[in-house]
Amino acid sequence: MSPGAVASSTVRPAPPAVDVAIVGGGILGLACAHELRRRHPGLRITVLERESRLAVHQSGSNSGVIHAGVYYAPGSLKARLCRRGAELMFDYCAQHDVPIRRSGKLIVASRSDELPRLDALEQRARANAVPGLRRVDADGIAEIEPHAVGVAALHSPETGVVDFAQVCERLAAELRANGQQVLLGHEVLGVEERSDRLRLRHPGGVVEARWALFCAGAWSDRLAVAAGAPADPRIVPFRGGYLDVVPARRNLVRGLVYPVPDPTLPFLGVHLSRHVDGSLSVGPTALLAGSLRPGRAFRITGRDVARTAGWPGTARMVWRYRRAAATELRHAISRRALRDSAARYVPSLRIGDLTPGPAGIRAQALTRRGELVDDFAFSHTTRAVHVRNAPSPGATASLAIAEHVADVLDGRFAPGR
Ligand SMILES: Cc1cc2nc3c(=O)[nH]c(=O)nc-3n(C[C@H](O)[C@H](O)[C@H](O)COP(=O)(O)OP(=O)(O)OC[C@H]3O[C@@H](n4cnc5c(N)ncnc54)[C@H](O)[C@@H]3O)c2cc1C
Repeated sequence: MSPGAVASSTVRPAPPAVDVAIVGGGILGLACAHELRRRHPGLRITVLERESRLAVHQSGSNSGVIHAGVYYAPGSLKARLCRRGAELMFDYCAQHDVPIRRSGKLIVASRSDELPRLDALEQRARANAVPGLRRVDADGIAEIEPHAVGVAALHSPETGVVDFAQVCERLAAELRANGQQVLLGHEVLGVEERSDRLRLRHPGGVVEARWALFCAGAWSDRLAVAAGAPADPRIVPFRGGYLDVVPARRNLVRGLVYPVPDPTLPFLGVHLSRHVDGSLSVGPTALLAGSLRPGRAFRITGRDVARTAGWPGTARMVWRYRRAAATELRHAISRRALRDSAARYVPSLRIGDLTPGPAGIRAQALTRRGELVDDFAFSHTTRAVHVRNAPSPGATASLAIAEHVADVLDGRFAPGR
């Protein structure tokens, strides 16, 4: 788990006019600013972030895993941008002194009835050209992770760990050093698109921009709709809560130990993650949340609940995934239930090893028909690109998503001219 968000350095007023305004100071907004600056050094770019620190939301509250591309449908944006993004992330961190480690991941089938799903996952991983992927048996599992047990596993040695909040800090520092603005405490309250520019209203005034990128995470649908994009899909929040493993027991896991996921869900299941700082966590849960802001498991924000409950897709989704929802509710309310799930593949994990850990809110797009949108998704309005769905592996893929968004911007608007 990333230890937390990045402290603010300056809260400066926004300039009245820029070439590109980027809404959202998470890893996607910052990565997009970085890529646009790299391509078009003359552009005036401003990142507007509502919070008083960067990476307060998903980008600072995740598992910190650099995925290698095992899970994603071949040919999908997730498959392509995860592989490319992982390479870019390893390079970026090496060049900018951000700690990063190729710790490797085991995806463990703990029972023989999980083997068909492991086979299907292996086929996917091979189609996605996941580097170094190997199938191992029970002895092979014990060699890689002495405390893990199972009938078979996939080993991805190139999966890594990093603190994505530190990556955000580095990206922001580089932008500022190159004369671009990363402004904290600037909530975009309204968007008005005209034929030649956009007007973004914030508490201190208005920023006029020739083009804009909206990377607003859990709030992305609201701003997209305000700018004229379709209401479908809507973001629904899923709380991902973790338990920390006490320092004396961190040696239970060397790298990352995951279960074989349910292929009908976009979540990867409860895993054990040894982070880049050496800490070990168990989680995350995946509970439909009553608030877009992290906090206690049953935190409620009236407006957020009304938006989630009022969306026709929500009831359909809850009915469709009722069995998974019941499991997730158990994980959220019972430390023992979460421990039991993880103990299927690391049986020596004890309830006394666990202490309360952090939580993040996943911004997951849901269609009107009740389908969880699986792939990364974007929409366009006259002068803007909106990121509409960027759940995991969004942080891994961020630098490649930024290339994709910059290609779209170049193709539609040619900002360099
Ligand atoms: C529990 C959990 C585990 C995960 N694990 C992994 C993992 O191991 N590996 C991985 O690759 N990915 C993982 N992810 C996914 C990853 O964290 C996200 O894909 C990524 O952080 C998305 O970045 P973002 O910039 O779009 O969103 P965010 O980090 O949420 O940033 C959006 C920003 O927009 C700002 N904003 C919103 N509205 C406004 C407004 N009106 N004005 C100004 N600013 C605004 C918000 O304050 C926020 O800072 C995980 C996510 C969660 C929640």
